[in-house]
Amino acid sequence: MRFVADLHIHSKYSRACSRDCDLEHLTWWARRKGISLVGTGDFTHPAWYDHLTENLVEAGPGLFRLREDLDREIDRTLPPSLAAAPVRFMLSVEISTIYKRDGHTRKVHHLVYMPDLESAARFNARMARIGNIGSDGRPILGLDSRDLLETTLECGGYLVPAHVWTPWFAVLGSKSGFDAVADCYADLAGHVFAVETGLSSDPDMNRRVSSLDGYRLVSNSDAHSPPALGREATVFDTDLDYYAVRRALETGEGFGGTLEFFPEEGKYHVDGHRKCGVRMEPEETLAHNGICPVCAKPLTVGVLSRVEELADRDVPAPAGGFTSLVPLPEVVGEILGVGPKSKKVLAQVDKLTAALGPELVILRDVPVDDIAAHSPLLAEAVARLRRGEVVRDSGYDGEYGVIRVFEPGELTRRAASLALFDAEPAAPAEPARAPRKAPAQSAAEAPPPVAAPAPVGGSLLDGLDPEQRAAAAVEGGPLLIIAGPGTGKTRTLTHRIADLVTSRGVPASSCLAITFTRRAAEEMAERLAALAPEHAAGLTIATFHSLGVLVLREHHAAVGLSASFGVADPDRQLEVARTLVADGKAAKALVEARDERYLAALREQDLVDFDDLISLPLELLEGSPELVAAYRDRWRWVSVDEYQDVDEQQYRLLRLLAPPDGDLTAIGDPDQAIYRFRGADVGFFLRFREDFPTARVVHLTRNYRSSAAVVRGALEVIAPSSLVPGRELTPMVDHGDAAIGVHHAASEAAEAAFVARTVEQVLGGASFHAFDSGRVSSDGTRGLGFSDFAVLYRTDRQSRALVEALTRSGLPFQKRSHDRLAGRPGVARIAHEVGHAPGGTVLERVRAVAGDDHTAYELLKPLAAECGADVERFRAELALGVEVDTWDPRADRISLLTLHASKGLEFPVVFVVGCEDGLLPMRWPGDDDADAVDEERRLLFVGMTRAQRHLFLSHTTARPRSPFLAPLESFEQVGEARPRRRRKGTQLSLL
Ligand code: ATP
Ligand code: MG
Repeated sequence: MRFVADLHIHSKYSRACSRDCDLEHLTWWARRKGISLVGTGDFTHPAWYDHLTENLVEAGPGLFRLREDLDREIDRTLPPSLAAAPVRFMLSVEISTIYKRDGHTRKVHHLVYMPDLESAARFNARMARIGNIGSDGRPILGLDSRDLLETTLECGGYLVPAHVWTPWFAVLGSKSGFDAVADCYADLAGHVFAVETGLSSDPDMNRRVSSLDGYRLVSNSDAHSPPALGREATVFDTDLDYYAVRRALETGEGFGGTLEFFPEEGKYHVDGHRKCGVRMEPEETLAHNGICPVCAKPLTVGVLSRVEELADRDVPAPAGGFTSLVPLPEVVGEILGVGPKSKKVLAQVDKLTAALGPELVILRDVPVDDIAAHSPLLAEAVARLRRGEVVRDSGYDGEYGVIRVFEPGELTRRAASLALFDAEPAAPAEPARAPRKAPAQSAAEAPPPVAAPAPVGGSLLDGLDPEQRAAAAVEGGPLLIIAGPGTGKTRTLTHRIADLVTSRGVPASSCLAITFTRRAAEEMAERLAALAPEHAAGLTIATFHSLGVLVLREHHAAVGLSASFGVADPDRQLEVARTLVADGKAAKALVEARDERYLAALREQDLVDFDDLISLPLELLEGSPELVAAYRDRWRWVSVDEYQDVDEQQYRLLRLLAPPDGDLTAIGDPDQAIYRFRGADVGFFLRFREDFPTARVVHLTRNYRSSAAVVRGALEVIAPSSLVPGRELTPMVDHGDAAIGVHHAASEAAEAAFVARTVEQVLGGASFHAFDSGRVSSDGTRGLGFSDFAVLYRTDRQSRALVEALTRSGLPFQKRSHDRLAGRPGVARIAHEVGHAPGGTVLERVRAVAGDDHTAYELLKPLAAECGADVERFRAELALGVEVDTWDPRADRISLLTLHASKGLEFPVVFVVGCEDGLLPMRWPGDDDADAVDEERRLLFVGMTRAQRHLFLSHTTARPRSPFLAPLESFEQVGEARPRRRRKGTQLSLL
């Protein structure tokens, strides 16, 4: 049968969509319009998915219909001309992917279809591991398009790129798309067989681009409310059958072309700036070099220009038959001189459809004479429409165009001689389009990133600057590298090690590199694998804790452990202590005091705790000169990153591993010492030269990470208590005039909302809605993805408001827990493996990678933390043997981190929230230790210097502003605060 399908719509759970978008209304409107197959939209949304499972029943292969009882209700409210027509649903969802590929921010929307609820559920479970699917019916995921397609195929569905020409959100879009569909889907491109042309283009335009020849061109409404159904649609001549529709799209057999808007009506047809009131045809845009004559910023390049750019044919190849239409309410509205959604129009369309059948049938098939019996003017309008005789006023920059059937003034003349619809004559609807003011400049703009200079010549050390190279090239002996943030300490260290093993004949097995956090160790391992791929596997790259595990595994018997001893996490420590004393508090006290009985109980269970990981190896080595000699012999080359943060035990361990004249390289920055509260002592760093009298000392002074404003600001902040006399730090990369933004918010919730909003702004509109409602600037994304953002805070508690705000905005994020996992070598890798293990229960997966149940249990908590799942649930799921929501490692997400955990990392955009007296510096009652305050200042210094391009410091009225920000007040004003965004109690100033 020949039927009309609309396979891209949204439910009421999508942002900015009508509350009426439920199955009943959709069914009602589908009958009214004359559509037989409708996409469900939004099937990834849990509430909508439930609504679908409750109210749909299977009807034909792969399709659904509304439950019988509901369907009958609907028919009772429809005239006989519309009732009882079949309306089927196909499971559909639109997914927005935002990610980086080849240095560009890519934002692509896709339509995904599934043949049954089970496949949809499987797909949803996979998507839930990528990001938040519960906050928006059109989820925003930080996932590469290719990977989305892969998951779609694995779950048994198919994918159609959505509105392919939309500048910001589409596979061929001028702003964040690709030049060919195949580039986007890479090796899986062959599985894409249809593309949605969108409202702003029609098949003839598309056929000018030969790379689209192989694809069926489909159209859908993208309706945000039921009355918009079918404004564009696709015609099929097949059975009402999911597989038949899919086959028609694949082969063309049974594909009946599309019903189209006149492309000029689409809101991105030509070029311009809505807010500047500037609209241009492609030639005009070219003549203006793409720059807006009002605000001097790049124009929004519409679909026509983009097609022109990619077109390689002048004359369109013959496209499948398509029909250009104007929705019936618009035609009637034009005649009545009122808006298409007005009551008057609704009433007239009610009458017309009752008499003549569905709207699309009236527009396309009903003989003009039959229409004339109701309204000669409408008959004339429909006749002109069918001949394509319309007046076109093109849409641009998010503003819909207007298509009129009558010339201005014509209706007034005709109205005198012809009845409208037994209604009063009225002035024709004049499309009003008032120019708006130029938008305020976005606070979140940055120049393009500066590429690191490519290494020339053959040596690995060529990738370093002269200072760094001198440091890396030092032959043997003790070496201390003192340098500020972003000066390439870690880079120098890794290049030095790589050079030692590749060019200076040092065996990889004699190199030991130590750092503090698991993440830092992973990062170092990655960098080394890239620099010296042949040798990387032989290197020992460890945190102090994982080094401890290594030593203990090799000498377990000496401390009374088995070879497979476990490491107790804090929960397990308490459990062990509670076997000795019932009371929780008393048990905690035992653990903290490292009571002998507690330690004995641990050993009895073949366990060690985190502290043991340092103290036991230390005991071993201090008691055995032979062991010391053996390890010294094994690791001749020892390097320690972040040396300013060693504590007494770690220091002693290091001194044992490296003799006074040994080949030890220590590198660090005293001003980034932030672990005093845990016993670290920057004094060890400061006395390196006494410990190692033959040490060479090298300084690095060039900052390669941050914008000039960030470097200057950070230096001002640390100056009052800097531990490095005459500290020098010269910004080397040009990030333009990107300033530090200081934001004042009325509450913690407002502060968190500011973060979410700013992320959207910097990305140039994560969601369609953010853009359409003018909430974001139209340029300046500069190739960023979600993983380029970090939000830093002093205490974990502060993350709550952030989690809420980001969830509400549908932005994908990931909370990185503190370096709890530092002593858990390989947990990240295991989490990764568990996450990747195909199917199976958690227990099966954890067992498979952990080896045995005992280890699996030990791994539970860190795994849960790593996976972002809460521990209780994780445990419960383990017990039940159901699947766990582990994060998909391919997903791109915003990082939420404590300031402590951010050490050594870097991000293009950094927020430090809660810059308030009492939080930063953190104050404990009765504690006014000046050293403690200095350490808090260093913590802010660490946080600020994580930023590459943008840094935002925010605070709320809950407490006084942090005194640490005082030095920033004297900064010159570099940018203007954005007045438009200012809200009550909220302001942003740029320093
Ligand atoms: P931190 O104190 O925060 O640990 P760091 O001194 O260890 O900082 P790195 O992380 O090694 O600094 O380097 C900071 C950034 O600068 C990195 O992105 C690194 O690739 C880059 N960088 C360092 N040196 C150079 C260089 N010579 N040329 C280009 N880029 C460099
Ligand atoms: Mg570093």
